[in-house]
Amino acid sequence: MLADHTTARVGGPADRWIVARSEAEAVDVLQTHPLPDEAARTAGQDSLLVLGGGSNLLVSDRGFSGTVLQLAFDGLSAEPVGDDAVEVRVAAGHDWDRVVAWTVERGLCGLEALSGIPGATGAVPVQNVGAYGSDVSQTIVQVRAWDRAVADIVVLNNEDLEFGYRDSLLKRTTISGSPRYVVLSVTFRLTHEAGPPLSAPVRYAELARALGLDHTAEESSRRAALPHVRQKVLELRSNKGMVLNGEDHDTWSTGSFFTNPIIAEARLEELPERTPRFSAGYSGDGQALVKLSAAWLIDQAGCGKGFGLADGPELGRGAEGAGLVGGRAALSTKHTLAVTNRGDASTEDLLTVARAARDQVREKFGITLHPEPVLIGCKL
Ligand SMILES: Cc1cc2nc3c(=O)[nH]c(=O)nc-3n(C[C@H](O)[C@H](O)[C@H](O)COP(=O)(O)OP(=O)(O)OC[C@H]3O[C@@H](n4cnc5c(N)ncnc54)[C@H](O)[C@@H]3O)c2cc1C
Repeated sequence: MLADHTTARVGGPADRWIVARSEAEAVDVLQTHPLPDEAARTAGQDSLLVLGGGSNLLVSDRGFSGTVLQLAFDGLSAEPVGDDAVEVRVAAGHDWDRVVAWTVERGLCGLEALSGIPGATGAVPVQNVGAYGSDVSQTIVQVRAWDRAVADIVVLNNEDLEFGYRDSLLKRTTISGSPRYVVLSVTFRLTHEAGPPLSAPVRYAELARALGLDHTAEESSRRAALPHVRQKVLELRSNKGMVLNGEDHDTWSTGSFFTNPIIAEARLEELPERTPRFSAGYSGDGQALVKLSAAWLIDQAGCGKGFGLADGPELGRGAEGAGLVGGRAALSTKHTLAVTNRGDASTEDLLTVARAARDQVREKFGITLHPEPVLIGCKL
């Protein structure tokens, strides 16, 4: 059952399940699963589902009619580049947080703000995993991947990967969960300075404050000891239910269910003045863009922490009202962006809560939230 291999603990059975314990085993399976044509991919008819840690995936309660290929091969090697950098190559199945811990222990700077994110390393370039002002596009040098369109291994450099906010070429060439590229290994370039190892400049105000740094100071001076940054990030994340903990249902989720919407700055006129916003650069036609907080929009639209299903399809009001106790699915009681399984939820239960949050935000603010996890065999 997919429910046994996903962090939201939902999803039905698969016809076939293959655990690849080496890259060669994975390639053998990939060779027998060429890329289907576009129409079949769009219709969700790929017979292959690539699985890492199952932390960004929602599969239908009916399950998956095809082969689940679980990439379970790990391994990590490091090579110095000049005096102050190291390239670390990591196999796709290596647990991501173990990679971060390994680099912090060795005084390598660049991944520390990405501590505590579940899943496997092969998945991190897919949605350009990020947190606390950092993302993997800042350190990835290249990705080795199986290209199902040409049935061969290809090397994609950082610029080929066309990284964006929670986005990359790898994600854009995945249609209804059917990937063109299957990542086999990822190489990161990290810095290594003489003296006590310091973090990269801390860009995120909440983290800077937690570290006792002046977040208004010049960026280059906002650095702290590497292990301290990792520890603070883990603390901040745990308080939001964003570090996996089997005993805490607030972490039975796919992390953030929605991406933060990016809109033209001019549209801010339609929103309340107090709407939090962050500068997000410019669109292709030169319009200033801002990023909004999906968590804030959901909360202000009436879906507070704990908002969820009462005990069936009827929606409750959340932790401060009815609906949480006994409900099968609800927003996390720590963070409105995570849709959580309270113990015996189905995929459809989680989607019902997510739909309600999306609809209420659209009704109140005219903004459509988009899901972050990959949905397979189901729709929001
Ligand atoms: C509690 C919690 C907190 C989280 N916090 C964050 C966060 O702070 N920032 C963030 O960005 N994300 C976060 N996430 C989301 C998730 O952890 C990341 O997206 C993670 O990288 C997914 O890795 P995975 O191995 O679990 O991927 P899976 O869920 O197994 O797969 C996700 C998608 O990637 C594809 N995929 C997986 N491996 C490969 C591969 N090798 N090649 C090609 N495609 C592949 C799958 O087919 C699927 O479409 C969080 C999730 C949880 C549950």
